[in-house]
Amino acid sequence: MKDTALHLRHLVKPGQKLHLKDVDPGDTAPYKHKDEVQELLADDKRDLVELQELLYAEGKHSVLVVLQAMDTAGKDATIQHVLSGVNPQGCPVTSFKVPTAEEIAHDYLWRVHQAVPGKRMLGVFNRSHYEDVLVVRVHNLVPKDVWSQRYAQINAFEKHLTENGVTILKFFLHISKDEQKKRLQARLDDPQKHWKFAVGDLKERALWDQYMEAYEDALNHTSTPWAPWYLIPANRKWYRNLTVARVIVETLRGFKMKWPEPADDLSGVVIED
Ligand code: AMP
Ligand code: MG
Repeated sequence: MKDTALHLRHLVKPGQKLHLKDVDPGDTAPYKHKDEVQELLADDKRDLVELQELLYAEGKHSVLVVLQAMDTAGKDATIQHVLSGVNPQGCPVTSFKVPTAEEIAHDYLWRVHQAVPGKRMLGVFNRSHYEDVLVVRVHNLVPKDVWSQRYAQINAFEKHLTENGVTILKFFLHISKDEQKKRLQARLDDPQKHWKFAVGDLKERALWDQYMEAYEDALNHTSTPWAPWYLIPANRKWYRNLTVARVIVETLRGFKMKWPEPADDLSGVVIED
């Protein structure tokens, strides 16, 4: 049965003080099993394909989907599953890596702003400016007085974007430390997945608690009415995919878009043999 409030269930309410340890990454309410959602997910994906075409055709809005997560939580897989079937021309995906020399010579939002999707685009950030209050904080890459000012800067930046026609949806795909262990082990056990395994990821895993603290602060400081966070329980891949798809679909539906009128009067047009 379709839960019509699913897209609101995992919204981090602005102003709410959230404790990550109270959130169950294995939560799949109101569903118990993958089989219950297969059809729902297929419906959402079909709707998404149509709404994205409309977004592209109408050309009035742009949507920015931000994905953040610990390793193995499924940033890449979510993009692959949720956006499969969508016209790739309208869906630029940007992956943010360790900044280059040129990027680091600029302010941390410089590279981000350039990648913000333009009108008619549904753009995805695989990692984002949030790395600048996550990895950067955990590894002390800049002093605390520098990163701690960034929450307000990010809120102002995102407000600027939304006031200029960008709708921002931010997802934290939340897995448990145990689940990460299973997934890392699965990568280790399968030669086809070795390419995904970086020994350095184990160093990040060892810093799990510090990362959770950094995520908790980021969610609490930057879930705003104009750019809210969704805290997605991601231990179950099917629930993760369903909730992310649903939030995007409901957002696009909320635009109440219309197919554009043809540029020319088509009423008398006859196509000759
Ligand atoms: P991956 O997503 O597995 O390709 O890894 C990208 C790596 O780049 C991750 O370890 C991120 O933490 C790192 N990264 C992304 N943005 C930044 C940043 N602003 N500063 C430092 N490291 C970053
Ligand atoms: Mg990685």
